[in-house]
Amino acid sequence: MMMNIADRIEQLRRELNRHNDLYYQQAAPEISDQAFDALMKELQDLETLHPEYDSPDSPTRRVGGKPLTEFSSVQHLKPMMSLENTYDPEELRKFDQRVRKLTGQTSVAYGVEPKVDGVSLSLRYENGLMTLAATRGDGTTGDDITANVRTIRSIPLKLKLADPPALVEVRGEVYLSREAFLKLNQEREAAGSPQFANPRNATAGSLKLLDSAEVARRPLAAVFYATGALEGVSFSSHASEITWLQQAGLPIPQLYWDCNGIEDVLERVRELERREAELPYDVDGAVVKVNDLSLWEILGATAKAPRFAIAYKYSHEQVETRLKAITVQVGRTGILTPVAELEPVFLAGSTIARATLHNEEEIQRKDIRVGDTVVIEKAGQVIPAVVRVVMEKRPAESAPYNLPESLGHRCPVCHGPIHRDPEFVAWRCENMACPAQLKRSIAHFASRKAMDIEGLGDKLIDQLVDSGLVTSHVDLFHLTSDQLAGLERMGPKSAANLVQALADCKTRDLWRLLHGLGIPHVGEGAARKLADAFRSLDRIQQATETELEAVPDIGEIMANAIADFFRNEKNLTLIKALTDAGLAPTPPAQSAVSAVGPLQGKTVVVTGTLSHFSRDSIKETLRSLGATVTDSVSKKTDYLIVGDAPGSKVAKAEKLGVSILTEADFLDLANQEPPGQPP
Ligand code: AMP
Repeated sequence: MMMNIADRIEQLRRELNRHNDLYYQQAAPEISDQAFDALMKELQDLETLHPEYDSPDSPTRRVGGKPLTEFSSVQHLKPMMSLENTYDPEELRKFDQRVRKLTGQTSVAYGVEPKVDGVSLSLRYENGLMTLAATRGDGTTGDDITANVRTIRSIPLKLKLADPPALVEVRGEVYLSREAFLKLNQEREAAGSPQFANPRNATAGSLKLLDSAEVARRPLAAVFYATGALEGVSFSSHASEITWLQQAGLPIPQLYWDCNGIEDVLERVRELERREAELPYDVDGAVVKVNDLSLWEILGATAKAPRFAIAYKYSHEQVETRLKAITVQVGRTGILTPVAELEPVFLAGSTIARATLHNEEEIQRKDIRVGDTVVIEKAGQVIPAVVRVVMEKRPAESAPYNLPESLGHRCPVCHGPIHRDPEFVAWRCENMACPAQLKRSIAHFASRKAMDIEGLGDKLIDQLVDSGLVTSHVDLFHLTSDQLAGLERMGPKSAANLVQALADCKTRDLWRLLHGLGIPHVGEGAARKLADAFRSLDRIQQATETELEAVPDIGEIMANAIADFFRNEKNLTLIKALTDAGLAPTPPAQSAVSAVGPLQGKTVVVTGTLSHFSRDSIKETLRSLGATVTDSVSKKTDYLIVGDAPGSKVAKAEKLGVSILTEADFLDLANQEPPGQPP
């Protein structure tokens, strides 16, 4: 008997939700991305034909809808407050004294959790369904960003509770993991868009996009640590509130401690600082909250912040130094990036002489001028940044920085005209033949995640382009050992090695060439998907936008960019010349015929530092053995490979009974010879 449409819609929604949960919460997908997309497509089609079955928690809402023209304002049912904060442990003791005095307790129980450095968010669930997502705004009124937040896969559209409360507001932070942030910036570089300064800016920028379909492509995530207005549910402690959030299916902070008394708190706060790197997001301190909610009422709040909580912020090491000059770098796509040239200083273990200034707007916002004394900081794993100017030390004759004027309105490399892209905050050099662009695009082509040409580094590329030996990628493949040996710091042996490396790279995997070509918007991930789907450069070249869009993770913008790239005469000439020079990329192995080894179909996680592999090379090796590599341990994980200084994953694996392998065990099991030293 044919299933009726309502039932099929219901079934598809259930299945998609289940797969979503497996993928995003448990890191243990059961079906391929293609199969997932096919189910989603079927549901979308049915919903379009039968709008009467529309539902706010349908998984189709996660792929984004029509772009908005503006966000509307919404009132929070309970205000979103600030937190009092301090950098001083003594102040934490004073906070405890105040709490004890006001409540008459001799010792107080506290919760300690990370202060997530993201963008604050309030969600409203009515009878278990998410009905509203809003930014903090001024604390009373925020922006309605529901359409954007629905695309965040780890946020449930429906609470996982049998008997959900009539109403609950939950509060948390949206973030981009450090890994996702680095990837996003790489993709933006590939697409010729200016980079984000840090994960928080990237998150804020993503949430402000009016086109939710675009937001769906940003790998945003969220954690929740509080509730606001409540109807039909109540809590007696902060710890029970957190447990409830977790039971409702909301992600909560991975590190959380119940503490007795302030000395215990201080210890945990220090522990959190030491273990910061375990968390996928940036943390700017710890939040200490009185656990017993009946005390919250006694303590109350100031106009700005509650008296039952305090943020203890970690002071990232900062130093002052002088900004000697601002130079401008030209990127692969012609984007001009200002760089601070600093009086060298020692900071957090290394000497710093340069820091990125990101873009002209950033310089103007902070009013950074040549000759200024500036404060620089190296926070977490991020590159050094100029935090602010020490205004008292500003020299009398300083002038605001103006990027085009400082360059005489010319590219600092090819001296061609520069132009400000109205779409972006960046200036760019428009000359496609600008040697700086050629150098950067060859560097990208040769990089480890593209054609992986050993020995072809930045300095050598500079020499090759400056000497005129290389005027296009193709020239690389016609270089002779004699020509190379004539260059500075190049002996006959390294010249011969490079010629060999260039010959070897001709048969690299297809995805590497696709990534190396620098097609706008196409990063490593998309290149792999394209290679898997089309299996030859020719077929990708012929593909229509519709065929390209049918590939998982390739949206309209990317499909257009790819098709445009292969319509451009200049690119076609380059590809033809590369093929004539003998480039014959290897198509991906067909999974069905690939060797069935002990790791085929297994899900593997890696933690700690390995001695024979870098993080990328172990992932590559595992994938080539047919394994799926994920980032977190779950019940679906088959093996955890453990190197030196592993993180909390080991304890989790032990708890879940996941098999733990040392590096030697892995090499044995996979029957692999150890490769050379890690790069
Ligand atoms: P501030 O904006 O510095 O006054 O700090 C208050 C903000 O910290 C809140 O609005 C939240 O967005 C954010 N925050 C991050 N992590 C937490 C946490 N664990 N508990 C409470 N607030 C947090």
